[in-house]
Amino acid sequence: MEIDFEKLRREMVESQIIRRGITDKKVIAAFLKVPREEFVPENLKESAYDDTPLPIGEGQTISQPYIVALMTESLKLKENERVLEVGTGSGYQSAILAEIGCEVYSIEKIASLAKKAEKTLKKLGYNVKIKIGDGTLGWEEFSPYDKIIVTAASPKIPKTLLSQLSKNEGKLIIPIGDRFSQDLILFIKRNEKIEKINLGGCQFVPLIGKEGWEE
Ligand code: SAH
Repeated sequence: MEIDFEKLRREMVESQIIRRGITDKKVIAAFLKVPREEFVPENLKESAYDDTPLPIGEGQTISQPYIVALMTESLKLKENERVLEVGTGSGYQSAILAEIGCEVYSIEKIASLAKKAEKTLKKLGYNVKIKIGDGTLGWEEFSPYDKIIVTAASPKIPKTLLSQLSKNEGKLIIPIGDRFSQDLILFIKRNEKIEKINLGGCQFVPLIGKEGWEE
């Protein structure tokens, strides 16, 4: 039987996103538009809108829709802002950012995932610049970024990423904690001052790199 993905998408947005308190209209509109089923493995398409992360291969996951929404909303994005993502994974978060109208740069450590995400994004018409490498070191060439989103868990805040963040209300969201549980931390940079806001508990795969976890 054909799966009505549009219906599943609308239901996901209603029950998982809006009902849990996400109000940013741009975020909601993007979630209604991006076909999440395109970012999950073929055999998991029917679960694409479930309230859970899903495996995408290489031991990695596409995050739960609500967590993607919460992180995206926390950045208070505006159109044309330059955003750096660390941990491309499936490319779903990149697509949400691009759909909002941001200029998106994304770094992925695992080449096969980066290539697959690039293909999916291109097919759907999203213009996202993807680099294969260690995202804990950021992407100097296009810095500073208005916003930075790290979608893997770090033991601490990678200093290089903070240095590549705009001093003009730049926002960086990152899960910080141990290997098994973390808190979502939002950093706001105003000149040399950094404000830190804890948005609560979460669980991510580890950020492995020079300024993250060791292999
Ligand atoms: N944002 C993704 C979910 C990513 S899961 C999505 O929407 O699907 C986290 C990803 O971070 C994994 O693909 C993992 O390979 C990657 N990763 C881990 N450490 C990294 C690093 N140092 N630099 C770049 N990517 C990293």
